[in-house]
Amino acid sequence: MSAEVVKLIPTDPEYVPTEKCIEMIDEWIQRFHAQIIVTEEVRFIDQGANFEKIICPFCLSNIEIEWWQNQMDIASESSFHELKTITTCCNQQTTLNDLNYIWEAGFARFTIEVLESSSDITKADVLTIGEKLECSLKKVIAHY
Ligand SMILES: [Zn+2]
Repeated sequence: MSAEVVKLIPTDPEYVPTEKCIEMIDEWIQRFHAQIIVTEEVRFIDQGANFEKIICPFCLSNIEIEWWQNQMDIASESSFHELKTITTCCNQQTTLNDLNYIWEAGFARFTIEVLESSSDITKADVLTIGEKLECSLKKVIAHY
C-alpha cells in the first residue's frame, strides 16, 4: 500500500493562522477532505519516498545527508524552534528551513494535509488558501 499526501505549510515555520483565518478556508477544507494539524513544536514536514537530495541555496552543492541528520538532531533539542545553521560547503548562515529540499519539504507548526486521491490542488488553490490564511504557502508532496 502506498499513499500520496499533499501538505500545505506556511513558508514561516512558526506561523499559525488565526481561528478566523482558518474559518475562511472551511469550504475548501470540506471539499478536499483536508485535515488541519497544529502543534506546539515545529515539525519537519517530509516528502517521504519523494526525498531525493538537499541542495545548498548559496553554492548549489549537494548537502551531505550525514551532516544534515546531525543538524536535525541538534534542532530537535529545541523542538525545531531553533533552525539556524551554517553550511559546511560555503560557510553561510542560514536555517534548515531555507535549504533546497528536492522534492520540497519544510518545517511547520501548521499543516493542511490532503490525501491525494481524486482531488488535484492547483497553484491557484495554494495561492488562494495562502491569501486567506495571510501567509505564503509551500506545497509538499509526500509519497509513502
Ligand atoms: Zn554551500
